[in-house]
Amino acid sequence: MSGSVLLVYDEGFLSYDFGGAHSLRQERIKLARELISELGLLQRRGVKEVPAESAEEEILLIHSREYVEAVRASGKDPEGIGGRYMEYGLGTPDNPIFPRMYEASALHVGGTLEAGRTVTSSKAKHAFNLGGGFHHASRSRASGFCIFNDLAITIQTLLEEGLSRILYVDVDAHHGDGVQYSFYDEPRVLTISLHEDGRYLFPGTGFVHEIGEGEGEGYSVNVPLPPHTGDAAYLQVFRDIVSPLAEVFRPEVIVSQLGVDTHFRDPLTHLNLTTAAHWRIGDELHRLAHRLCEGRWVAAGGGGYQPSAVARSWTLMFGTMVEWEVEDEIPEAWASLYSALMGRAPDVESLWDPDIPSSTAVDREVERVVEEVKKAVSPYHPL
Ligand SMILES: [Zn+2]
Ligand SMILES: [Zn+2]
Repeated sequence: MSGSVLLVYDEGFLSYDFGGAHSLRQERIKLARELISELGLLQRRGVKEVPAESAEEEILLIHSREYVEAVRASGKDPEGIGGRYMEYGLGTPDNPIFPRMYEASALHVGGTLEAGRTVTSSKAKHAFNLGGGFHHASRSRASGFCIFNDLAITIQTLLEEGLSRILYVDVDAHHGDGVQYSFYDEPRVLTISLHEDGRYLFPGTGFVHEIGEGEGEGYSVNVPLPPHTGDAAYLQVFRDIVSPLAEVFRPEVIVSQLGVDTHFRDPLTHLNLTTAAHWRIGDELHRLAHRLCEGRWVAAGGGGYQPSAVARSWTLMFGTMVEWEVEDEIPEAWASLYSALMGRAPDVESLWDPDIPSSTAVDREVERVVEEVKKAVSPYHPL
């Protein structure tokens, strides 16, 4: 099975449903899976697709029993609970309570766990759970559309199963606060988050000075990017910060959150990436995994609120796992599915976006941030 790739997808992911008026539309996950399938990537040798299986007790490795019970209880009675669960971040505009919320959330966790265990037990080199990526959830609180933190749960599970150097790379437009703070004093987990500067975007954290504490000092790395950061500057950050840190850390596995709300058309954020950058991010992570840890790369989805961008970007990222010679055509069958699901024809005709001109002022600001990060990190890791 060496060289093999796992895709985790489950129709049950669509039951993680905050309602039609909410920004998070899980149809995007189905659209991504179908685009991957229509382009023939699942039929390639060594590629396997599996449904997710619900996680159970692993959830308690990160979340308090009290919180897990609140999630379970509120999802059984989404109508009649008033503000009773607000202290857990449940029932807010960001995280409305919905029926069977516990079951839907546990299924996503199970998908990322499956991806993690498949890779670390060498059943596949790379695994991508299109669900999951809920990086904001904390011990006893839902946050930013995230109920259970599938990534932190998976990382903690892998630590308990004996791993001792896990690299976590978070490319979502929002800071990966829930994962960072789960391992803030933990030197076995190096977290690196690239995100839009917290002064402009939720959750308002992820500054350069957040470097970890106690034994974990130096093992939380943050790159807050100015609004309108474009492809070239972003990829340069990847080469200047992520790759060298990974080289020094020598991970046994790379776990990544592949949020694509950095896309220039994303309605919630202000970064300017195109699908080409998302493909290159995948390519960089793929190379790093092969260079440093025998290919062991676990990926989960994450943010992304422009459905046609999400589907294309995750297809391109999955494409790097299967070493796909990328095409640009969007299959007819996918366009029909898009129309049926979204009630309108897709707004794109190619996997690739047109180039976006970059701003010199923004590029300079990104360079300044990179220097600041290098300075903060160098006492702990020679870059
Ligand atoms: Zn996000
Ligand atoms: Zn590979």
